[in-house]
Amino acid sequence: MYAPIYPIRIYDLGYADIKDRLDLLAGFLEKQDALLVDVRFKPWSKSPIWRAENLRKVLGDRYVHIPALGNINYSEHGENIQYANLDRGIQEATRIMWLQSKSLVIMCQCWDRDHCHRMGILKRLEETACSIPSQPLVLADLRHINGKDIHIQKGLFDD
Ligand SMILES: [Zn+2]
Repeated sequence: MYAPIYPIRIYDLGYADIKDRLDLLAGFLEKQDALLVDVRFKPWSKSPIWRAENLRKVLGDRYVHIPALGNINYSEHGENIQYANLDRGIQEATRIMWLQSKSLVIMCQCWDRDHCHRMGILKRLEETACSIPSQPLVLADLRHINGKDIHIQKGLFDD
C-alpha cells in the first residue's frame, strides 16, 4: 500500500540520459507513487532493458504504453513530428492520472528534450489536463531519491 503523494506531478525522461539505470527509475516510481508512461511509437530498443516487455516485467502496473502519443516519424529525429493520435493519447494519460491519482513520468528515448516529441505532449497536458508544469527527470534526481547521492536537483523537493 502506498499513500497518494500530493500534489500529482508530471515528469519527463529521456532514458538515454540514464543509460541502464532502470533500477533507479523503478525506485523513483515507487517512492513518488508514479507511473511510467512510455510514449514511443514503437516501444523497442537496442538495449533489452528499455524494451516494453522488460519494462512491463520489472515495473508491473507502473508501466503504461500509450501508442497514441507516439511519433509516427520517430526515425527522423525530431524533424516533422507527427503524433499517432495526440487527442486520444492525452485523454488516455489524463484519465489514468486522475483515476489512479498518480504522478506520471512521460518517457521517450531522446536525451535532448527540446527536440523530442514529448515536449508537445507535455505542453498539451499542461494546457488541457491540468496546470501542472512538467519537470525534467535526470540521473541526479533518481540517484538522490534512491538515497545514493546527496545532490539535490533544485525544484524537485521544494513544495
Ligand atoms: Zn523522443
